[in-house]
Amino acid sequence: MDDGAALLKQILANPHDDVVRLVYADYLEEHGERERAEFIRVQIEYASNPCSVLSRFQSHAPSPANGPCAGCVRVSELRKREVELTLQAVGQWWMSEVPQKWMVKFDRDRMPYDRPTLYYARGFACRASCPAADWLKHADAIRERHPVTRVVLTTMPTAHVPEVNATRKWNKPLEWGADVMWTWEAEWPGIAFELPANHPLNEGMVAWWAPAPL
Ligand SMILES: [Zn+2]
Repeated sequence: MDDGAALLKQILANPHDDVVRLVYADYLEEHGERERAEFIRVQIEYASNPCSVLSRFQSHAPSPANGPCAGCVRVSELRKREVELTLQAVGQWWMSEVPQKWMVKFDRDRMPYDRPTLYYARGFACRASCPAADWLKHADAIRERHPVTRVVLTTMPTAHVPEVNATRKWNKPLEWGADVMWTWEAEWPGIAFELPANHPLNEGMVAWWAPAPL
């Protein structure tokens, strides 16, 4: 395993650790991937700037009396650079690390989209939204490269119970509902699954799968 692969493994094992991501960015830069390195740094700075969240609220909007907030100015610079790097990056690394026909968005973007989507934050995909069958098909490949911790399913996994039972070789046959969700969470540890908002199981169990606060 080379240094890059070892660092990636550490990132996957410690999804909340920015330090190892920044070390990986240095590694990428030293190996000719300057834009990818900058993308990781820009997204980490964005996420750690309190104005990336505060600027969503009216109370934090710039006022004529106070002038623009320096943090907010920096956040808008970072957003601009993030998009520029994204445009340069498409075809370079995303094509190789995102399943075909999936979309790529930022973590702050709305979700779910009507196509399978990976949402990037701090340089890597942190969330996915997709039909249950797509997750089943691509989960292992995605998890080799991305520290995904949250998956919004846009179809009900119960529809895929026979397929799941056949492919994942669980020792307990899956039946229905929450049983399936718990088994999925055991199969892909560290990931919180959410069902579509209109799923009947959500009725009495919203607290279990309420979206994380922004
Ligand atoms: Zn601000």
